Amino acid sequence: MSQSIHGPVVPAAPSTEPGAAPRVDQLKLTEIFYSIQGESRSMGKPTVFVRLTGCPLRCTYCDTAYAFHGGEWYTFDRILDEVASYNAGHVTVTGGEPLAQKRCVELLERLCDAGYDVSLETSGALDIGSVDSRVSRVLDLKTPASGESHRNLWSNLELLTPHDQLKFVICNRGDYDWACSILKAHTLPEGLEVLLSPSFGEQNVTELAEWILADQLNVRLQMQLHKLLWGDEPGR
Ligand code: SF4
Repeated sequence: MSQSIHGPVVPAAPSTEPGAAPRVDQLKLTEIFYSIQGESRSMGKPTVFVRLTGCPLRCTYCDTAYAFHGGEWYTFDRILDEVASYNAGHVTVTGGEPLAQKRCVELLERLCDAGYDVSLETSGALDIGSVDSRVSRVLDLKTPASGESHRNLWSNLELLTPHDQLKFVICNRGDYDWACSILKAHTLPEGLEVLLSPSFGEQNVTELAEWILADQLNVRLQMQLHKLLWGDEPGR
């Protein structure tokens, strides 16, 4: 974005007392951090990550289990101020499963209104229909080896637009074949970015590349750049 987004960081709002009802303009966050986006169409871009706490899924390969519990209540204003302090044009809202907190859609709208290029990383298990159309929704359709493919909300596929992205984390050949069958069975919007990502430490990336080429699959192979840079370090 062209405008300057430097801004003062206001003091943290007081957290909600344990047991008290959260304010309507609050979300529970695990962390806000500034890093390089390691995945998706925005891979390589300096990005502010807003990680919401909580997830109803338990994927076998999950690398953010630390976001399942705990967290701290943040007001929307505090989130916007902290995001602005990094002077980045791109913001990724992630989790956990960010849509598990209903007010996440309001935060996404506020970030878009503030002029950011916004993406949302979501599991595909919850309805994406209420997400602002300016947001690029990165839908991580759960493959069989994730152990959570029964949670996929198939109606989400009909809501995808060329502005969104559809991701498959591939753990083995069975997952790859399953992803191919899903791509054949569904008519997806022209221009929708389809991402195949090898499960880190589980699926060999060269092997996956060769499968894609052998099948002449019109997808983008992606590796998790942040893991090459920093391994599994949280907040990177
Ligand atoms: S949906 Fe994401 S955060 Fe939730 S268990 Fe699966 S990988 Fe982890």
